[in-house]
Amino acid sequence: MSETAALAVSGALLHGERVGLRCEGGRIAALGPGVEPRPGDETIDATGAPLVTPLLNGHTHAAMTLFRGSGGDLPLLPWLEERIWPVEKRLAGEDAYWGTRLACAEMIRSGTARFWDMYWFPEEVARAVGDAGLRATVGAPLFDLDGDAEGLRETARTSLERLESCGPLVRPSLTPHSIYTVSDESLRWVAELARERRVPVHIHLSETEREVEDCLSAHDLRPAHYLDRLGLLGERTVLAHGVWLDRSELELIAARGCTVVSNPVANMKLAVGGTFPYPAAREAGVAVGLGTDGAGSNDSLDLLADLKHFALAQKHAAGDATAIEAAEAWEIATGQRSPLLGEGEPLAVGAPADFLLLDPSAPELAIGELASNLVYAAPGAVVDTTVVAGRVLMRDGELPGLEEIVARAAERARGLGLSRFVAP
Ligand SMILES: [Zn+2]
Repeated sequence: MSETAALAVSGALLHGERVGLRCEGGRIAALGPGVEPRPGDETIDATGAPLVTPLLNGHTHAAMTLFRGSGGDLPLLPWLEERIWPVEKRLAGEDAYWGTRLACAEMIRSGTARFWDMYWFPEEVARAVGDAGLRATVGAPLFDLDGDAEGLRETARTSLERLESCGPLVRPSLTPHSIYTVSDESLRWVAELARERRVPVHIHLSETEREVEDCLSAHDLRPAHYLDRLGLLGERTVLAHGVWLDRSELELIAARGCTVVSNPVANMKLAVGGTFPYPAAREAGVAVGLGTDGAGSNDSLDLLADLKHFALAQKHAAGDATAIEAAEAWEIATGQRSPLLGEGEPLAVGAPADFLLLDPSAPELAIGELASNLVYAAPGAVVDTTVVAGRVLMRDGELPGLEEIVARAAERARGLGLSRFVAP
């Protein structure tokens, strides 16, 4: 990636006020009324365009764009066992690269700047992230269902080493798949390695009711208590799903400072039968984020669309239209309700130069409050310009190289026997 020149935005709207913004060295150098471009700056005339924090996808398997449309409308376990795992055995590094490039293109187009990923060939995922210009926390899925604990350790160590040198946009993490695919002993080992290397842990937890029942019968503990006993709950832990967490688990998770990432659309599509108990999580003080999960089980990466589902599912499950407010939902989707995901105040001098400019002519944004419109009315297509680390990744809705990315990803999917164009 080439070194970015200073970038200046003029005429944008921030909280209804006309502002200018300058970025230098990938950070916001100036922001406010009267901030003007300097000679030599790359400039964006953003007259009338709302300037907002980009979205943060807290849980995905980006390269699973290759599996889109192949879900067969199955529940979680048959879907994994029949449709996903057999094909993943044949997967090559180039598949992971182009699947991730496609996911990154979709995320840039719908306003996501940063994502948390768990997938095979993490160094290829990282290369795709770097080439796309997004930010991601990346890890290799760790499994030892087959009893191969040594293989798991080898994967964890080598992936961390490779990911540590993947440039400033990529952060390494440890991503044990779940409590039902990794042994106690390996989970305890992962917790120790994460502490030693000071890297985040990202794991699926409490996605299905069966997972809770199995955990209770095997360990006499609910999933969060079980993970805590193994030393896996901490401030650098992301728990994806959390659909079946009870009050005692939410209190424990809050006390340990973990983040729960809700994936409402994947949960609904796989019909897990419950809704992440957000109002109880908020009351307990749990840090919360939003994710799409992989495109194999969603099938979209448009987090703005999922944000609407999240807010609606919460209101519906609570039987209470006041269960969540639009501004609060927006903060969850942009990582501002989790210190781990959000990492400080966005859109401020000194903060990373990550931002969106929304289409000033989008009809969905013309009337009413911006936060409400973003949650309930706007599709990802209202994103006009996406900037990450001071680099313009999409301008005026145009993403350079999109045609090639789509073609190469489709070719890889066909090679895996996944992309059959069958008329409905
Ligand atoms: Zn997942």
